[in-house]
Amino acid sequence: MPAPDAAILERRDEIVAALRGIVSGEGVISEPNELKPYESDGLTAYRQPPLVVVLPQTTAQVSAVLRWCQANGVKVVPRGSGTSLSGGALPLADAVLLGLSKLTRILDIDYADRIAVVQPGVTNLAITRAVEGAGFFYGPDPSSQIACSIGGNVAENAGGVHCLKYGLTTNNVLGVELVMMDGEIIRLGGRQLDPAGLDLLGVIVGSEGLLGVVTEVTVRILPRPETARAVLVGFPSVESAGRCVADVIAQGIIPAGMEMMDRPAVHAAEAFAKVGYPLDVEALMIVELDGPSAECDHLIEEVERIARANEAVMVRVSRNDAERLAFWAGRKAAFPAVGRISPDYYCMDGTIPRRRLPDVLKRIADMSTSYGLRVVNVFHAGDGNLHPMILYDANQPGELERTEAFGNDILRLCVEVGGVLTGEHGVGVEKRDLMPVMFSATDLSHQQQVKCAFDPDLLLNPGKVFPTLHRCAELGRVHVHRGELPFPELPRF
Ligand SMILES: Cc1cc2nc3c(=O)[nH]c(=O)nc-3n(C[C@H](O)[C@H](O)[C@H](O)COP(=O)(O)OP(=O)(O)OC[C@H]3O[C@@H](n4cnc5c(N)ncnc54)[C@H](O)[C@@H]3O)c2cc1C
Repeated sequence: MPAPDAAILERRDEIVAALRGIVSGEGVISEPNELKPYESDGLTAYRQPPLVVVLPQTTAQVSAVLRWCQANGVKVVPRGSGTSLSGGALPLADAVLLGLSKLTRILDIDYADRIAVVQPGVTNLAITRAVEGAGFFYGPDPSSQIACSIGGNVAENAGGVHCLKYGLTTNNVLGVELVMMDGEIIRLGGRQLDPAGLDLLGVIVGSEGLLGVVTEVTVRILPRPETARAVLVGFPSVESAGRCVADVIAQGIIPAGMEMMDRPAVHAAEAFAKVGYPLDVEALMIVELDGPSAECDHLIEEVERIARANEAVMVRVSRNDAERLAFWAGRKAAFPAVGRISPDYYCMDGTIPRRRLPDVLKRIADMSTSYGLRVVNVFHAGDGNLHPMILYDANQPGELERTEAFGNDILRLCVEVGGVLTGEHGVGVEKRDLMPVMFSATDLSHQQQVKCAFDPDLLLNPGKVFPTLHRCAELGRVHVHRGELPFPELPRF
């Protein structure tokens, strides 16, 4: 693996001093011990201490840091709360880690326009907390919402259980302030619904920190529905549950959320959260219906009818809000619950057409047998977004490698059945080398031209998303390979 840029490592003291000139006091972290908390994100299988961490407090400081780094050929990795599950915020040994966690102010809330303007370090949940007193909420609700930042949500186009009805981050962001790698500060979109010109905001959402650093976000806030009720439905097989999901959507019903867990996930979640899930079913579905009370009642009847037609063995409707939240508490705790039954787990994220659910789950079960590794399935069933969690023990030689191979096969299967490599966790380093499974060389070249338009020196979050980056000057001469910059192999923990 190519070593980090030795010239940059030699200039470390100079780089630290320059950053201290921009962000004073505790805003620059360079002591090896203090760098440790930053050496990985949510994908803890990979670790790498950064060259230095800088924590600006203003957009002007972010701009000055980027301008200095660009002028001095220093790479930069942006970081929000570090909960990415695809290694998007994994540091590089020869790059500055630019943390946005000190930009935590809510700048404006306008109920008449139904928007909130927030800094990137504000957590997802803090937005809902800030507006719920007035009867509003912010739609996208990743399970990590207590910790993850809105800047990271924008970079990953984060989703959550309520995105089936209320949309992903991209459907709920109206504008951003963005600092380019050369320090220029631009605004894309704003408070209005339909800004003029090319949809560059759409390019930024989901760009995984490769195009610019988000320093302000304008989000849509929504009035809380009059009623919300959840229905727990147990099935004798994953196949019948999968058919039920497809039938509910085909009927024209768009639940606020529709989640599924297989038997091992139900058992792990119940042991952890003790919310009263049935333990004698092969698959458990949680469907939430919201809206006016009469509409909810009607939709619940419809869902129950469709579920019974698909062999449901139990249907339980929440009687009050406490019970509805308890139904969700088990599902939302599924990740920590699985953490208790295995030394390590690797959470995959792929999306498939809903109708292929039964078939894909069967093939994942077969792979589990052939790899000799247990798998637990939770998924945003309504979106066809799978989260198989492969259980492994990193202390057993070769087990991480086997887990990665299993995970790659799952993602290849998602693409094979007409799905995509990622639902909401992003490509990062995790799926970087699988991009050619989904995209041709021409597709990737076009995507890289977008990268070059924003960051021609390829200094922002390099090594993520693209399996190979061509020097921008070489782009277009696709048969000339001397311009290729191979990325280092990933630093395994
Ligand atoms: C237990 C658990 C549950 C999760 N559940 C979900 C879920 O339900 N749905 C979901 O979508 N995700 C989920 N995630 C993944 C993760 O929380 C999301 O991807 C989240 O959006 C990452 O936000 P962050 O602030 O932690 O970003 P980080 O992890 O710090 O960074 C993620 C990426 O964004 C870039 N970035 C961060 N901030 C900025 C910025 N201001 N400007 C430009 N680029 C930036 C980074 O370079 C990196 O590429 C989960 C993670 C965990 C650990």
